Amino acid sequence: MNIADLQETLKRSSVKKLLAIFPHPDDESFCVGGLFQLAQKNNIFVSLITLTKGERGINSFGSGNLGKIREKELKKASKILGVDEVVLWNYPDVNLKNTQKKWSTKLKKEIMRINPDLVITFDHSGITGHPDHIVVSTEVLRILKDIKNPPLLFWRVPDDQEKNYFKKNSALKFASQPTHVLNFGFRETLEKLRSIYAHESQMKSFAFRIQILEWFLFDHKELYCKVDLNKKFDYQFVLVETKK
Ligand SMILES: [Zn+2]
Repeated sequence: MNIADLQETLKRSSVKKLLAIFPHPDDESFCVGGLFQLAQKNNIFVSLITLTKGERGINSFGSGNLGKIREKELKKASKILGVDEVVLWNYPDVNLKNTQKKWSTKLKKEIMRINPDLVITFDHSGITGHPDHIVVSTEVLRILKDIKNPPLLFWRVPDDQEKNYFKKNSALKFASQPTHVLNFGFRETLEKLRSIYAHESQMKSFAFRIQILEWFLFDHKELYCKVDLNKKFDYQFVLVETKK
């Protein structure tokens, strides 16, 4: 299948406002750290909605209020990536699936307020299979199907490296095929790495830091799928909602 160049597509399109929607602080840096930088370069206004403070994640500091720590980390990472507007909510981490009714209406309103031309989130595999990732993906799709003149929807889809690392994620069978690739340079890669490392509380070990380098240092790309809003997509929640 032919994969289009996302940067070219963005340059040619009339996209002026991009909105990324993710459940946890750090999803944005790992998943769309390249895209945010290129959007900024192309004068696209970037908004980010993060639904939880990720308070049930790892706390490599061992103490302190993790929600507050991650709030600061998200702001730092967003600054590095050139995000123009960060909307951070406080819905329960690792429990978005059961609280969907509480946040879904608000999310729709917020999408309408921001009025983006392009929305980005996970595909139905959630890449890692985290239930928060999957439910945000399915809800965003449902909301956009419901909007009269909906924005474009692009899903961040897993590449081979991610598929291999998260091979235990049985929701990978619901991963979408990429339609677009975003290639970026070494400079953007270094900034992306800097934004990932800004989430210091999540750096569980030295080995994990090295793992991140191995993932991204020489792999300057992100894969996306342009979503047909008229299509139906299968999904399934595969992981137990304990810890990440
Ligand atoms: Zn996440």
